[in-house]
Amino acid sequence: MRKVSVAVPVPFLDLLTYRVPDGLPIPSVGARVRVPLGTRVLTGCIVEYPNDAPAGELKDVIEVVDHDPLLPTGVVALCRWVADYYLAGVGDAIAAAMPPGARRKATSFKTMRVATLTALGSDTVNGGEAQGLTPKQREALDVLSASSTGLPLSELRDRGISADVVGRLAARGLVLLRAEATERDPFERAALADVQPSESRVLTAEQATALDQLTALADARDFRVALLHGVTGSGKTEIYLRLADLARKAGRQTLLMVPEIALTPSVAALFRGAFGDRVAIQHSGLSDGERHDQWHRIRRGDVDVVVGTRSAVFAPLTRIGVIVVDEEHDTSYKQEEAPRYHGRDVAIVRAREEQALVVLGSATPSMESYQHALTGKYAKAILERRVLDRPLASVRLVNMREEYADQGPDVVISRTLASAVDDRLQKREQVLVLLNRRGYATAVFCRQCGDAFECPNCTISLTVHTARQGWRARCHYCNYSMMVPKACRKCAAPYLEQAGFGTEKVEQHLRDRFPAARIGRIDRDSVRRKGALTSLLSRFAAGELDVLVGTQMIAKGHDFPRVTLVGVISADVGLGVADFRAGERTFQLLTQVAGRAGRGERVGEAVVQTLYPEHYSIQLACQQNYAAFFEREFAYRRGMRYPPTVALVNVVVRGKSFDEAMGTANDVVQRLKPLMASGGFVILGPAPAPLVRLRGEHRVQFFLKGAKRVEMRNALKVMLKEMPDVRRRMTIDVDPLNVL
Ligand code: ADP
Ligand code: ZN
Repeated sequence: MRKVSVAVPVPFLDLLTYRVPDGLPIPSVGARVRVPLGTRVLTGCIVEYPNDAPAGELKDVIEVVDHDPLLPTGVVALCRWVADYYLAGVGDAIAAAMPPGARRKATSFKTMRVATLTALGSDTVNGGEAQGLTPKQREALDVLSASSTGLPLSELRDRGISADVVGRLAARGLVLLRAEATERDPFERAALADVQPSESRVLTAEQATALDQLTALADARDFRVALLHGVTGSGKTEIYLRLADLARKAGRQTLLMVPEIALTPSVAALFRGAFGDRVAIQHSGLSDGERHDQWHRIRRGDVDVVVGTRSAVFAPLTRIGVIVVDEEHDTSYKQEEAPRYHGRDVAIVRAREEQALVVLGSATPSMESYQHALTGKYAKAILERRVLDRPLASVRLVNMREEYADQGPDVVISRTLASAVDDRLQKREQVLVLLNRRGYATAVFCRQCGDAFECPNCTISLTVHTARQGWRARCHYCNYSMMVPKACRKCAAPYLEQAGFGTEKVEQHLRDRFPAARIGRIDRDSVRRKGALTSLLSRFAAGELDVLVGTQMIAKGHDFPRVTLVGVISADVGLGVADFRAGERTFQLLTQVAGRAGRGERVGEAVVQTLYPEHYSIQLACQQNYAAFFEREFAYRRGMRYPPTVALVNVVVRGKSFDEAMGTANDVVQRLKPLMASGGFVILGPAPAPLVRLRGEHRVQFFLKGAKRVEMRNALKVMLKEMPDVRRRMTIDVDPLNVL
C-alpha cells in the first residue's frame, strides 16, 4: 500500500500516517505534502514510509507540494533525533529546519508587509489623543516610533505584536501597511570591518600546530570532535577560515555557528572577504525574505560556507566536512522554546551523522566540553598565547564595599574606573563598559507604604526605562509596561523611589561625568530598530564613538583593536542568582570581557567592580586561569551531584491556580516514581518554580536527575503516553540551562 508518515506543524503531535491516492506520485522523504487534519488542511513534511499500517481508515494526501525534497534527508533525520532527545513534537523540530514561509502552499515569497506610523500615529505617540487603545496597540506604536523606515510584520511578530494588532491600528489610520520587495543582500548591512585578505598572513607557531591537528582530523572524513581552547585574541577565527578553505578544496562544506546576531556581521564579512559569494548567512535577525533567499542558495548547493546562529545547525547543506561552534560555552546556543535544543549538542549529532569534524572553540569552554577533552573523548588543540605575543589584559579589582563606605551608596562608577576612563579619553583610546542588566532602574517602590511595582502577570519587579514620553516601567518577561506615575497607586504619597540600576543609568552617569566624550549604548533596548546594532558597532569600529556601554552583547567576540580599557560595573550580577552555574557564568563573562581589551598594539587593562572580590570565580577570572577554575568548579559540581557529573531534566507544570499546577505536578510525579528505581534516577520536587507566576500562569516544577538520559526520557515517554492531557500544560527541558 502507498503510505507515508507525515510531520505536521502542530505542537506535540506524533507522526501521522496518510495514504497516497493513485494518480499522485509517491513523495520523497523531505518533501512537503498537503494533508487533512480534523477540519483543517495543513502543510506537512514526509518523514518516512511506515512498515505497518495503523488500525482504522487512513485519510488521503491531498497534494504533493514538492517533487524534489525540500529538506535533505540528513536534516530530516536530525530533526527526528531532536524530537526524540528533547521530547518535542517531530513537527516542531521539522518546523525549526524549514525556511520561512514553507508552510504556505506557494513557495514564491518575494514580498513582505511593512508597517510605518502615519502622521496621525506619530502625533498619538507624542502625546496626542489616544483613546481606546489597548496596551498592545500602544506598545506597537512605541516600537514603530523608533523606526523611520518601518518594520516588517514578521519582525513585529517576533516582538510579540501580532498582525491583528497592527491591522487594527491601520484601520484607525495610525499605521500604514505596504508591501515591500525582499531582494536585499544581507551583507550590505554587514560590511563592518575592512577585511584584509588572510592569505598573506603568517600563522603563529601555535596557530600552525592547531591547524595541522584539526586538518588531520578533518581529513579522516569521519566523525570527530575537537575542542579548540584558545585564549581571547589568540586568533581562532583565522583557524576557522583556513579550515573552511581546506574543506572547500576537498569538495566539502563548512558550517560556522556563532552565538549572537551581534557577532554574525563581522564574522560573515570576514568569510565573505575570503570566499566571495560562496558564503550564506542564516539567523533570525534577517527578514523572512532574506532568510528565504539565503536558505534556497544553500539548498541549491551554491555555497561552500554557512555562517549563522543556533538555527543554522539545520541549514540544508549536503556535503558538510567541518562544523565550527564558536564560543561553544555560550548560553544563547540553547533555544528556550520548543524544541528546546542546544545548538552545540545538535551540531555534534549532525557531525556524527555526516561523518564530519566538529570544532568547539572557546577561551572559556563549558564544563561539559572540557571534561570530555580531559577524558580523551574529544581531541584538544590549544592556543595559550595571543597573536604577536600581545599580553592578556591586566585586571584590577575594585572592592565596592569600600567604595560605598567612602563615597556613599549611590556610586555607579568608582574613582578607579573614572580616572582610568579619563586617562583613555585623553589618549584618544577606546573604552568598553559592561553591566549585564538593562534598563535605568531595576525596581520602583513607595517610600511611604513600601508598595513595589510588580508585574501583574509575573512574580518579578518592573524595570524602569527612560523613554521620550517619560519614565516607563516594563516587565522583562511578558513585556507588560506602564508609565511610572507621579504618586503611589496604593497610598497616593508622592514619594516614589527607584532602586538598582542598569545600562541606561550607567550611560547617563558617564555622560554627566564626561560631557565631551562620544558615548553609545548597546543592549536589547537600544538595538530594537533594524540596523541599529550594526550601525553602533561600525561607528565604534570607525572611531566615531569613544565609549561603548552595554550588556553581555558587547562582551563577546568583538575585535576592536583600539580598546585599551574595559570597565565592569558589577561583576557579581550573576552571583546572586540561585543557579548552580552562576560561578561558571561569571567566570566566562569576566574572562570574555577582559579579553576585549588590548587586542591591538597597545596594552589593555580591565577594571572590575565587585562586592565579592574574594569569590573564586572573580579571582580566577582576573588571573585568567581557566584550568584552576575548572578544577575548583568541577569538585563543587561533583560534590553536589550537578551537571556535568549527572544529567538533569526540568519539568514545569502550569495551571490557572497554584493548587491546580501543584495537583497536576503531584499526579505526574506519582506516575514517574515507580519508574525511578529501574531507571536509576531521582525526582526532586515538585516545588514552586522560581518565577511562580509568569505571563499570568502559576508554575510548579520538578527535576529528574540521574546518570542516564535515555532512562529518564523513557520514563517521561511512558508518563506522556498515559497522561496525554498534561502535555499542553507542561514544559519539559532536557539539559536545562535556565531554570525560571
Ligand atoms: P580570538 O577569536 O581567538 O579571540 P581573533 O581570531 O579575533 O581571536 O584574532 C585576534 C586578532 O588577531 C584579530 O585582529 C586577527 O585579525 C589577528 N590575527 C589572527 N591571526 C593572526 C596572525 N597570524 N598574525 C597577525 N594577526 C593575526
Ligand atoms: Zn510580566
